[in-house]
Amino acid sequence: LKAEWEKLKDEPTVTADGKQLELAGNIGTPRDLEGVLEHGGEAIGLYRTEFLYMDSQELPTEDEQYEAYKEVLEGMEGRPVVVRTMDIGGDKELPYLALPDEMNPFLGYRAIRISLDQDEIFRTQLRALLRASVHGRLRIMFPMIATLQEFRDAKAIYEEEKEKLQSKGVEVSDSIEVGIMVEIPAAAVLADQFAKEVDFFSLGTNDLIQYSMAADRMNEQVSYLYQPYNPSILRLINNVIKAAHAEGKWAGMCGEVAGDQTAVPLLVGMGLDEFSMSATSILKTRSLMKRLDSSKMEELVEKALNEATSNEEVKALVEEYTK
Ligand code: PEP
Ligand code: MG
Repeated sequence: LKAEWEKLKDEPTVTADGKQLELAGNIGTPRDLEGVLEHGGEAIGLYRTEFLYMDSQELPTEDEQYEAYKEVLEGMEGRPVVVRTMDIGGDKELPYLALPDEMNPFLGYRAIRISLDQDEIFRTQLRALLRASVHGRLRIMFPMIATLQEFRDAKAIYEEEKEKLQSKGVEVSDSIEVGIMVEIPAAAVLADQFAKEVDFFSLGTNDLIQYSMAADRMNEQVSYLYQPYNPSILRLINNVIKAAHAEGKWAGMCGEVAGDQTAVPLLVGMGLDEFSMSATSILKTRSLMKRLDSSKMEELVEKALNEATSNEEVKALVEEYTK
């Protein structure tokens, strides 16, 4: 089987009925790029930049960040790179930032909430990204967006920094896309409104499931509530994809579910455009996608969303449809 996957390394990602999909890799540092390319990744769907901050004793400078972003963009040779702005907080601590002690860190001061509050840190990151944008095809993504106002505020800061750089004569790409992670149920429910303003969505299922089920993703005792195929989760995901398409935008996924072999047939049926996962899942997912008929998967989705009542029932449906 491994040998069969190996042959797919340089092949495009198409379903049995000819539908083209994008298979991307998740990375934490520029060093991870090699693995994604070795496994035939067509893009970077999630660059978790918080490691730049966590691997350092102090805030990384604009130039340090610029070098890292440039390395990834150049390494991908014009293929898309989604860079997520700082997602600190929750379980990710930064000793030098003195984040508050909180009762519920996953519901607290984290990610875009910190970026909007301490905007100098955010502005530095955006300037590094804007300067690096000329070295490839950059997509910027904001994490943990709950409200449209947060997106608008973040986007306004981005536009301000872009204009300031350009007025100083710094070259910036004119084709940067700016999107959001959909990982808070409030954003998934309101996806139709977000879709009018963002360039793309990327579903963060690790957090989306945690927040939808009210079950801490780090707590083993409630891990049975991590139910990626539960119709409630599937309806949220489907809503986001349909909302994106209604506005001519694309929708991807960068949570663990994107590379889950039971979920992939469902996601193909829903019309997900981009799938981003750990490098080692890319080839087996391409192999699976080549065997799927997308119109048959649409039929599967119809049943999963409207007839199934549990995670287990959906799993059984997928097995029936992919036998
Ligand atoms: C997610 O929440 O699904 C995600 C991709 O982000 P992280 O796992 O870094 O929170
Ligand atoms: Mg997340």
